[in-house]
Amino acid sequence: MARTGYGRKRVLVTGGAGFLGSHLIDRLLDQGNEVLCVDNLFTGDKRNLDHLVGNPRFEFMRHDVCLPLFVEVDEIYNLACPASPIHYQHDPVQTTKTSVHGAINMLGLAKRLKCPIFQASTSEVYGDPSVHPQTEDYWGNVNPIGIRSCYDEGKRCAETLFFDYHRQHGLEIKVARIFNTYGPRMHPSDGRVVSNFVIQALKGEDITLFGDGQQTRSFCYVDDLIEGFLRLMASPADVTGPINIGNPVEFTIRELAEEVIKQTGSTSKLTFLPLPQDDPKQRQPNIDQARAKLDWEPRVPLAEGLDRTIAYFRELIEA
Ligand code: NAD
Ligand code: UDP
Ligand code: UDP
Repeated sequence: MARTGYGRKRVLVTGGAGFLGSHLIDRLLDQGNEVLCVDNLFTGDKRNLDHLVGNPRFEFMRHDVCLPLFVEVDEIYNLACPASPIHYQHDPVQTTKTSVHGAINMLGLAKRLKCPIFQASTSEVYGDPSVHPQTEDYWGNVNPIGIRSCYDEGKRCAETLFFDYHRQHGLEIKVARIFNTYGPRMHPSDGRVVSNFVIQALKGEDITLFGDGQQTRSFCYVDDLIEGFLRLMASPADVTGPINIGNPVEFTIRELAEEVIKQTGSTSKLTFLPLPQDDPKQRQPNIDQARAKLDWEPRVPLAEGLDRTIAYFRELIEA
């Protein structure tokens, strides 16, 4: 399908009612594109899109990507998939189906339309990594039968499908390996660490550290991440990824808790709970490829991103 020629495109975003999808849609609309959001609202929330009601360039379709989809668009971003451990472990069979059947359907759609397709892959493809920081050529250390496997192996199989459609059918693919991202519109009860700690601190409740809190993560502010998505989609066709997109500044979970307490001025105390099974001990992206191929790197430091995130949750709690 021909593009408009004025840089304006019709863009499909699956999972667009979720945290990352809704921010991506805002940016795509800001650029003048038309956006079709497809979401089954499993973890997403229409309130993330409330501000777009009435925008003639925006359309919402309630649909499960495990089912075929026949629409006409110029570009596809495939984000549909529950992303937090609590949500993806709630119905693990459905999680694998969403990653695998969803990828097959969206790749089939891209094949028919001959359009580029972006996949929201994850640092979880590296599992509990023995190479640190993680580079894209590391194959990972993933348990195939554990409680995180529905997500990790589902996303790994989706990557396989993307690369086979690329090799076999010549599809233009863009595979991003996303590292932990935070910001406004995170689901308040999906149990991810940044939202948990901020909400606990604002309510004066105990901050729940799993294990000894010495495990590490590297947190990327959502606006930085979305800029990386847009640059990857706009990159030359030979830039297929997989490419790490995340913030390489690494913190222990305990350091994160202390920073949240400091910034909220909270009286909350730390409490230690058992570490969930297969919880990765360390995670930090090597982003040399993103720097070289996309001229991209994160700009928002944790303190600044947390400030905006705290403001969002403060308003949500007080509403
Ligand atoms: P989210 O849960 O907020 O959003 C996911 C969206 O997908 C939700 O709106 C949900 O309703 C929708 N969805 C789920 N199953 C679906 C289905 N079968 N059909 C249609 N829609 C469906 O999560 P998020 O943080 O915005 O994550 C978006 C994507 O990015 C996911 O694919 C996730 O795996 C990936 N990712 C996110 C992070 C992160 O830190 N946020 C890290 C790595 C990868
Ligand atoms: N598909 C879709 N929309 C389309 C084209 C295909 O949802 O516009 C689905 C189709 O239902 C199929 C999947 O994508 O199950 C894979 O399509 P492909 O053409 O690769 O495979 P085939 O149809 O040959 O099995
Ligand atoms: N975590 C924690 N307390 C919480 C939620 C999470 O200590 O209330 C830890 C969790 O065990 C993991 C890290 O924080 O080591 C990141 O967890 P999250 O669920 O946000 O993401 P993921 O494990 O998928 O990176």
